[in-house]
Amino acid sequence: MVTQTYSGNDFMSETTPQLHIRDLQKTYGDNKVLRGLNVDIQAGEKIAIIGPSGSGKSTLLRILMTLEAPNGGRVMVDGESVWTMNANGQEKKADEAHMRRMRSKLGMVFQHFFLFPHLSVRQNLTLAPKLVNNVSGTVADDTALELLQMVGMEAKADAFPAQLSGGQKQRVAIARALAMQPEIMLFDEVTSALDPELVHEVLSVLRTLAKKSDMTMLLVTHEMNFAREIADRVLFFDGGVILEEGPPSQIFTQPKEPRTQEFLKTVL
Ligand code: ADP
Ligand code: MG
Repeated sequence: MVTQTYSGNDFMSETTPQLHIRDLQKTYGDNKVLRGLNVDIQAGEKIAIIGPSGSGKSTLLRILMTLEAPNGGRVMVDGESVWTMNANGQEKKADEAHMRRMRSKLGMVFQHFFLFPHLSVRQNLTLAPKLVNNVSGTVADDTALELLQMVGMEAKADAFPAQLSGGQKQRVAIARALAMQPEIMLFDEVTSALDPELVHEVLSVLRTLAKKSDMTMLLVTHEMNFAREIADRVLFFDGGVILEEGPPSQIFTQPKEPRTQEFLKTVL
């Protein structure tokens, strides 16, 4: 089999990747959404995921976040399988404690924010750390304020989501995901639902995170200039596989695959 990973070189085989994805399959009825997806991602890498609508980008992130189960293949985080597969490669339910532990390594931010509408900004950030991680109220509050400062939202700590603009909601959603201290952050088109004039404030937060934190970041994005600026590696999704991948300098200027060339023509 031809490996799809450009990272499948000698250096990679010496280190355990933080994320190891092999032959990942996902079907909805007759619709094969992921058709044997392979990729290895090292701790700290900033990965931009691009590709046409329906190519399986969100499905991959949802599987990584354990919001969906794959139909076959393997996902390993820090060398440990997330899903347990039976003999024919079908996913079996792993025990709840295992899933929770694996899930806690990741955080996800969605296109449509999903803030808790009945909680203040501060409470949005402190709820899960207190409930899930047993963090004390004082510590959770301190962390929340630090994160709100980082995303420029400390002045709105006591506001409610309905009082915020889309850009502000998204910055709070990013801070909320960070409050759980994930190793890996997944961002699914987090600027796509925003009015154009609000996109930059969210990109600016992401840019700071990408440059200053050593977290692993996977960003599905249509912002090609942004991807080019912050990504170590770009994955081009097409038809449920990674059709091409490489550093932004190569993918954006000398894509090899005709499908990548076609796609970039429509978005650049
Ligand atoms: P992308 O994020 O690249 O646009 P998605 O991963 O959202 O693509 O979707 C890939 C395909 O899977 C699409 O054809 C979509 O209609 C289908 N799909 C996604 N989620 C579901 C679901 N819950 N039920 C049925 N089909 C789905
Ligand atoms: Mg999507």
